[in-house]
Amino acid sequence: WTSGNTAEAENSIRELAALAETAGSQVLDGVLQRRSSPDPGTYLGRGKAEELRAIVEATGADTVVCDGELSPSQRRGLEDMVKVKVIDRTALILDIFAQHAKSKEGKAQVELAQYEYLLPRLRGWGESMSRQAGGQVGAGNGMGSRGPGETKIELDRRRIRAKMAKLRREIAAMKTSRVTMRDSRRRNAVPAVAIAGYTNAGKSSLLNRLTGAGVLVENALFATLDPTIRRASTPDGREFTLADTVGFVRSLPTQLVEAFRSTLEEVADSDLLLHVVDGSHPDPESQISAVRSVLAELRGDVPKEIVVVNKSDAADPEVLNRLVLREPQVIVVSAHTGEGIDKLLDLIQDELPRPDVEIDVLVP
Ligand code: GDP
Repeated sequence: WTSGNTAEAENSIRELAALAETAGSQVLDGVLQRRSSPDPGTYLGRGKAEELRAIVEATGADTVVCDGELSPSQRRGLEDMVKVKVIDRTALILDIFAQHAKSKEGKAQVELAQYEYLLPRLRGWGESMSRQAGGQVGAGNGMGSRGPGETKIELDRRRIRAKMAKLRREIAAMKTSRVTMRDSRRRNAVPAVAIAGYTNAGKSSLLNRLTGAGVLVENALFATLDPTIRRASTPDGREFTLADTVGFVRSLPTQLVEAFRSTLEEVADSDLLLHVVDGSHPDPESQISAVRSVLAELRGDVPKEIVVVNKSDAADPEVLNRLVLREPQVIVVSAHTGEGIDKLLDLIQDELPRPDVEIDVLVP
């Protein structure tokens, strides 16, 4: 469903399809519905939902993914129409994050985000009672089961809140050890560079190029959830750490912004940020603003940013020119061919803080 411009909606749907593939699904077909606002009952509206049902039957699809956030009643309304499972963008993204979290902290954060997503979706009273019996989270037996159903939901809620509190405590403890490690790197005065950027922009590939390390590169969204930290050096031989951070996506679920926190902190605490952009994408500008809006969460703590336009080998020169004119500090590279990498290293060298110079300033 969209109320905005069609090109934007198509972009978003393409990304949704890529997300679904990353989650391990095979994408069969898509429909776009144009309305001024989503239908409160079925999200798409009856006519479009029937069209969707025909597609589901023809293709044998077992799941419908909606590019937006569905209310519990919209999800059920649409499920009743299409007769297969319906999920929304947030649920899909949460699923991918759950699959890709590697560290303990990353896993705990995703679990917390999943509970946050689930909590308001546990059915309360007042909404479509008769359907509640079949709802996924243990309701009573429909009409007349008011008491037990309510109690059950209250119990579920309380249990979930208790689990969330436990997860928060665990995350806080893990964070302390991560911060200690970071502090020790900082004490050794190794400057830190963070790589951030839209998912699939080529962050891992660039990290490989710059450090020669064998980091996993996947043509999939979110290959990296937890920050990977490697050592690299500038042409004049100074060492720095390079942290590859998570891939950003359009309409990142709010529940996940918190899960991103550790990655964001890695960015906030670095001396320099390489914002990697996929130059071969039709609309890199929208990806740049999606990343910046998440980085704005850092509230003023964003380090100096170099926009690294990657995939020059596959990019339209006009798009590259447009980006070069638009961004104040920008460099065009190809992680694949190596084009521009030496220049990027020179630029990193120029931009890194110089400890000797800083010490001079401190001496009266
Ligand atoms: P990440 O999600 O930002 O870490 O991106 P990856 O490094 O995993 O790369 C995503 C996809 O883009 C992979 O299929 C890479 O092979 C491809 N890729 C990365 N850098 C380049 C490049 O310079 N040129 C081209 N043509 N493809 C690239």
